[in-house]
Amino acid sequence: MSAQNLDSAVAISGLEKRFTRHNSLAVDDVGFTVPRGSFFTLLGPSGCGKTTTLRCLAGLESADRGEISMNGKAVFSSASRRDVAPEDRPIAMVPQSYGIWPHMTVFDNAAFPLRYGRKTCSRADVRTRVTAMLEQVGLADYAGRWSTQLSGGQQQRLALARALLCEPEVLLLDEPLSNLDAKLRAQLRAELRSFQQKFGVTTIYVTHDQGEALAMSDTIVVMNRGRVEQIGTPAEIYDSPASRFVADFVGSANLIPGVLDRRAGGVVEAKTSIGVLRCERFTAPPESLVPGGELQVCVRPEHVRVVPGVADGLAARVTATEYLGDRREVVVAVDDVVLRAHADAHLDVRPGDEVGVVLDPKWTIALWS
Ligand code: ATP
Repeated sequence: MSAQNLDSAVAISGLEKRFTRHNSLAVDDVGFTVPRGSFFTLLGPSGCGKTTTLRCLAGLESADRGEISMNGKAVFSSASRRDVAPEDRPIAMVPQSYGIWPHMTVFDNAAFPLRYGRKTCSRADVRTRVTAMLEQVGLADYAGRWSTQLSGGQQQRLALARALLCEPEVLLLDEPLSNLDAKLRAQLRAELRSFQQKFGVTTIYVTHDQGEALAMSDTIVVMNRGRVEQIGTPAEIYDSPASRFVADFVGSANLIPGVLDRRAGGVVEAKTSIGVLRCERFTAPPESLVPGGELQVCVRPEHVRVVPGVADGLAARVTATEYLGDRREVVVAVDDVVLRAHADAHLDVRPGDEVGVVLDPKWTIALWS
């Protein structure tokens, strides 16, 4: 894939970064393109290389190899030894700590890039633009306050306002909600998404929180150990994970080891210790896959139906249940395989009960890696 993709705001190919000679690669052959105006998320566990990828995009880290282009222009290329300085890239970055100056007012913080940045403007312009932006992010009444007098959520909005005032082509956000409590996080993720849509700015967002990624993104890149595991829409990532890692990291997954029994007409039948399971979803299997080849059958808990009594499905025994208000989490054992199911909150089952278990084949996925 070439990094010179004119339809995309950002294109990366073959990106590699190693921090010390003996360390493994922090970023290993990473490539993706970010459509203009989209909300694009790098998702993965701690240490998988998300921040390093973002810092390479910002120019704060110099990659060992690869290409990065923004708006069709190369900003980094190891082949042609090009490495455009951070201040000359069309980006604004909001770091995890927001980078707000404590000794300045809210207004002065927001005005900083217009007074001292790459595109400075007149005093009157600064006043008009900062006032309008603070209005947009709901901070107009706080303009004269010290930034330290803002709550965490307000500081996040101030950091966003300041970044947007730079009029970046691409906004880079590194876990901007991680310092906030769970309730505020849920509220601000919706707010952040609606600001992004209102301003139409291409946004690259880093998070390890799968709920956040699913709720906010147009596209998600799932990373693991420096590599890209899968790129797709939230629904593609959740409903059709490409690997065991993705299935397990995004949402919860029941994983049942098995072998290929047969493959016909868009259906994979997998032989497992609890019988032959029908999978109507699967990623492209390796060419070499033959009956007997190892795989994992993945079923999300919401696609496991628990039927009181054993009239229907696989015979199972309930080992635990948890009432969660909106649903009941039921853990069942089918022989030696333990499955989690999301059932109706008022389903009357208790540990020790014999039940039937039905896996919905439409949502059952065969995974090869
Ligand atoms: P987190 O969610 O914890 O921030 P991450 O996915 O953003 O993690 P990175 O911060 O990109 O991961 O780190 C990727 C790997 O590179 C890790 O193994 C990390 O220890 C290593 N690393 C990152 N920065 C440096 C550095 N400046 N010097 C040495 N190693 C580094």
